[in-house]
Amino acid sequence: MRKIIGLLLAISLFCSASWANNAVQVPILTYHNFDPSVPGSMTEDTTRFEEQLKWIKDNGYTVIPLKQLVSYLEGKTASVPEKSVVITVDDGKESVYKYMYPIIKKYNYPVTLFIYPSAISNASYAMTWDQLRELQKSGLFDIPGHTYWHPKFKQDKKKMLPADYQKDIDTQLVKSKKVLEEKMGTQVTLLAWPFGIYDTELEQAAQKAGYEMAFSIDGRSASKSENAMSQPRYLIVESEDMKTFQAIIENRAQGLKKSEG
Ligand SMILES: [Zn+2]
Repeated sequence: MRKIIGLLLAISLFCSASWANNAVQVPILTYHNFDPSVPGSMTEDTTRFEEQLKWIKDNGYTVIPLKQLVSYLEGKTASVPEKSVVITVDDGKESVYKYMYPIIKKYNYPVTLFIYPSAISNASYAMTWDQLRELQKSGLFDIPGHTYWHPKFKQDKKKMLPADYQKDIDTQLVKSKKVLEEKMGTQVTLLAWPFGIYDTELEQAAQKAGYEMAFSIDGRSASKSENAMSQPRYLIVESEDMKTFQAIIENRAQGLKKSEG
């Protein structure tokens, strides 16, 4: 009898431990633009941004590098700080260098920039490879992939011949990874889906291309119970008030936000 009770106790302890492990939820914030001369829903006012970082700091949260969270979600490390937050920025806009970088330096927070190589040193709104390398050198930024030219996969699939679509997927996932690795001298293992669009076919292609984890903008916190190839993030838009922002950080916003980006 004693043995059975002991066994049941062990099982229940094990179950609650693994439940607690799966229950860890970390909000990943997604920004886009910080240029005050280009107002729009994707532009974050720098005063507001600084207010957000200050709130994170004052309320005892730790901004951890995305890679640290990935390692935890993959079970390679045992834990992350209890109140963890991750900051990401998509698209590689020049305003990241010009407006966000000085604020990030002040707070010394790690940031992940998801960029698409076709725009870099090319589009007027984008950063140059030199600027990206400078950010990388600061030790605060890591720079993984966001496909080659930010396609609309959903539309491409409808209008392209199947063989052409396969080629397109290859360019977006394989070629972009290769170019980014050559230009930045790093290994690229993370991917953010453009416009947050993904499906099973794309998830499988990303895995095959060598990405360990991919990220959407499905408006939930990341956790072990999510699919590795579509870990959700929160899109932070200009209209976000501090109350909503706090709800996101405090994990009270699950299902509150759903955005197409
Ligand atoms: Zn994007």
